[in-house]
Amino acid sequence: MASLDDTVTTPHESSRTTGSGSLNRRRMLTVALGGAAAVTLPAPAWASADRRPGAHRPPTLTPHDRIVVAQLSAERALQHLKVLSEDIGPRIGGTDSERRAAHYIAGQLDRLRYDTTLQPFPVADKFLAQLSSPAGLPRDLNWQVGASGQAALDTRITAPVVDVGAGTPGDYPADVSGRIVLVDYVAAQREQLAATAVAAGAAAVVFLPADLVVPRRASAFSPTLPGSAAAPLPIPVVGVAQAQKHRLRALLAAGPLTLTVATTAHRGLTSHNVFGERRGRAGRNGPVVMVSAHYDSVIGAPGANDDGSGTVLCLELARVLRAVPINATVRFALWGSEEQGLIGSRYYVAQLPQPERDRILAVYQNDMVATSWDPATRYWLLSFTGESNRATDEVSAAARRLGYEPRISPVTQRGASDHQSFQEVGIASANFSWRGEESPALLEPPYHSPEDTIAKNISLERLQVSMELIGCAAYATARR
Ligand SMILES: [Zn+2]
Repeated sequence: MASLDDTVTTPHESSRTTGSGSLNRRRMLTVALGGAAAVTLPAPAWASADRRPGAHRPPTLTPHDRIVVAQLSAERALQHLKVLSEDIGPRIGGTDSERRAAHYIAGQLDRLRYDTTLQPFPVADKFLAQLSSPAGLPRDLNWQVGASGQAALDTRITAPVVDVGAGTPGDYPADVSGRIVLVDYVAAQREQLAATAVAAGAAAVVFLPADLVVPRRASAFSPTLPGSAAAPLPIPVVGVAQAQKHRLRALLAAGPLTLTVATTAHRGLTSHNVFGERRGRAGRNGPVVMVSAHYDSVIGAPGANDDGSGTVLCLELARVLRAVPINATVRFALWGSEEQGLIGSRYYVAQLPQPERDRILAVYQNDMVATSWDPATRYWLLSFTGESNRATDEVSAAARRLGYEPRISPVTQRGASDHQSFQEVGIASANFSWRGEESPALLEPPYHSPEDTIAKNISLERLQVSMELIGCAAYATARR
């Protein structure tokens, strides 16, 4: 199939401003994944005045809404998402992978003539590992895993693999000397399990997490071994994700398997927030509207939806808002190290003087705004306080104008993304996200896993709707 560049020959705007009133023939975008089969994503193809997928009536847009909506292109956003989730891949706070993403984002904002800054802040050491095989591993899964900081680091081991299941001494075959052992992970027994492998002469331990209750799937993890803090274990100890576990066991069932485990310590780390600002007519002391997302991801997760989707929403909205008349200053913020506990956004808020906090009208945080998981049919308005505020009010109003009332949730209490950092100090903010109908806890199965990829977890239609909702809301806030 053709690559994306060959497929998308028409700028999105031209197909969406024809005003025909009828849905264009649904186009399909082909995405070539490095080495893997190409996948096809349905491309959004509706004109400004058309009813949106899942909407209950055609929109009643203001002229200002139409300026924004006519220009927003999920296909353009997808180009950025390929760079973040495929070219760079997992973006672990403070490591080179996150820094590459920060420079990419800053470069894009620079090109759009925003006043662009990087804000550094310190973060904890990271211990990571990469699995590979001389015979190759399936390329539709990422094979980054977590390493223990209390075991062998900056080490590379290639050896045959043996599965010892529960990992008690009785589970070991006669000779595992020099082999990499797969061991079922039980947190309370992890130190004993690792010690048993060392005593048996194993070359490395690969801990396999228990399956979680559907739809959750366990993430890759860095096993902590407090008992070995003073004297690290002499062999690498790593923790894989549930999806990686099942693939490793399937490979081993098909025949002998040789793996390479390469561990790396990342110490003395600096993470960054990235800002792009365009000053409005009200000037340097005037009001500020912020649109934000986090660009880091968890271990082993390419982070296509979490939160590459929110990041590319910001970049595409920055392109559209760079030239429209605005009264307020528009500030895009891409947070680093969100996954480690909202570190970047908390750092930003903590150093922001009260007069600067007082300028902020609303912060629109976009975390997981494009999943293709079928049950994620509700667009959630998530407020850390549970109360409505300017951000939720403006998105609710934009949803009414777009004909989307049945799809959006009531304002619902939930933190755990960067809106929380702002609401903790009384700044109007909320997180916006597609999730299951009954609860914002219903996240898609690829969440925080190696399966959070464009192929398995991105809907361009949902991304387009998310961009329209936030675009209309943010412009309405900034314009007046
Ligand atoms: Zn997230």
